[in-house]
Amino acid sequence: MRVAVIGGGVMGAATAWRIAKRGVDVVCFDRHSPPHALGSSHGESRIIRTAYFEGSWYVPLLQEVFPMWRELEAASGARLLTMTGALMIGDASSEVVAGAFASAREHSLDAEFLDSNELRRRYPGHVVRAGDVAVLDRQAGVLNPEACVAAMLSHVQRVERGTVVESLADLRSAFDAVVVAAGPWTSELIDWIPLRVERQVHGWFSIARDADWFTPDRFPAFVRQSRENGFMYGIPTLDKKTIKVGRHHDGETTHPHRIRRRVDEFDLDPLRLLTATYMRGVSGHVRHTITCMYTNTPDNHFVIDFSPDDRRVLVISACSGHGFKFGPVIGDIAADLVCDGGTQRDISHFSAARFAAAPHVPDDNGDRDQQRDH
Ligand SMILES: Cc1cc2nc3c(=O)[nH]c(=O)nc-3n(C[C@H](O)[C@H](O)[C@H](O)COP(=O)(O)OP(=O)(O)OC[C@H]3O[C@@H](n4cnc5c(N)ncnc54)[C@H](O)[C@@H]3O)c2cc1C
Repeated sequence: MRVAVIGGGVMGAATAWRIAKRGVDVVCFDRHSPPHALGSSHGESRIIRTAYFEGSWYVPLLQEVFPMWRELEAASGARLLTMTGALMIGDASSEVVAGAFASAREHSLDAEFLDSNELRRRYPGHVVRAGDVAVLDRQAGVLNPEACVAAMLSHVQRVERGTVVESLADLRSAFDAVVVAAGPWTSELIDWIPLRVERQVHGWFSIARDADWFTPDRFPAFVRQSRENGFMYGIPTLDKKTIKVGRHHDGETTHPHRIRRRVDEFDLDPLRLLTATYMRGVSGHVRHTITCMYTNTPDNHFVIDFSPDDRRVLVISACSGHGFKFGPVIGDIAADLVCDGGTQRDISHFSAARFAAAPHVPDDNGDRDQQRDH
């Protein structure tokens, strides 16, 4: 059997790694040179957590994925995962707190509910207002995305870097199966999943010299939701000088060939507002910024499904801003589907059929073919 994987971001790299592990001949194609900073799998850190507010059905996959990240670490000798715990902060009825709490209770997870006083006492880096509470998820931490992708690809014999797959027809005759893991470029290759690409900016904010509470041992990664300002997230400091902060969603609709890579002051103002409102010991000075893309489905849940008219084509669109942490388990599911024709894992939530009646969402100007930046 010969399998082609289109894309060497975390999803394609994980798929190729898990297929290669089964002794199957696999080639991974990427238009750039992964790990790279032009798609969705870059930026020094990614949060991994278990008390999943997005849906309790993700929890079994998350419980499975931690040992897989450790397996990859052992096989590659690279440090990929740092356990920090994670805080979901908001009012008790917010999606992040209520959702994380529900997942923790349903799956008896190692998690703790913190009231306002306890949250304030333990974590001086957070400004805690009346009504703010949190779920502390202990089975959580931070992954290094570039190192993860490099480690996965190091187990794949053939990685064709700088190779653009223009259409699936190019590969169908030479391979028994094709896995599309093209992230924000997916709609160039298939048109049966409604996807919207969203530009995201995150910034590394300077921390005050006396603010010693942001280190990974004292400051869990966090996601915070407020009625006024939506979702923000932050990662403990990795250099003792800066802390990475981003907004979750609320980015402009974009296209991978035309994304505005330059970060302007008006991109940073919303982040400054968030750090000034919700964090203590963070200055308005931004040392470094990066742009990245979310590939969103209409309900922000993943798609892992065969093409409706060709079961030799499998599509993985596992982003919507929260896919990285699942890389190895989604790669293994893809390997099950391609090599065995099915999987034991419950992937019923990821079927593309749920969008069958949904209208296609156009990209920023409805044109997929202009300005290719191969
Ligand atoms: C700012 C930001 C923060 C995030 N934070 C988190 C987080 O904390 N935790 C978490 O779990 N997830 C997070 N995510 C989501 C996560 O990073 C994504 O779900 C994941 O990286 C998506 O990976 P991918 O492989 O699908 O896409 P990509 O990484 O974009 O990979 C797609 C690859 O396909 C290649 N390609 C495309 N078209 C072709 C073609 N025609 N021929 C050949 N190659 C092609 C591209 O070059 C690219 O390398 C975040 C995402 C962003 C943008």
